Amino acid sequence: MLLIHCPWCGPREQTEFSCGGEARSARPADTDTLTDQAWGDYLFMRRNPRGRCLEQWVHAHGCRRWFNVERDTVTYRITRVYKAGDEPPGGDS
Ligand SMILES: [Zn+2]
Repeated sequence: MLLIHCPWCGPREQTEFSCGGEARSARPADTDTLTDQAWGDYLFMRRNPRGRCLEQWVHAHGCRRWFNVERDTVTYRITRVYKAGDEPPGGDS
């Protein structure tokens, strides 16, 4: 069983959460000038790394708030959890 520490509710079982995929940089500011290729890359292309990965999760069966998780995709070990919009604790390394 994987325990995820919701920044608002504390540790809960993984079954209460849903993963929203890779945490990415901000949405492109001027979407009118984007090419179809650039827009498609932003919407659909993911890095899918082996190892350290930053993901967005939502506490779907709890407070329903979004937050970021730094997780190892090989070991499933969660190393950091922080609120969406906050700076990652310990910096963005
Ligand atoms: Zn919560």
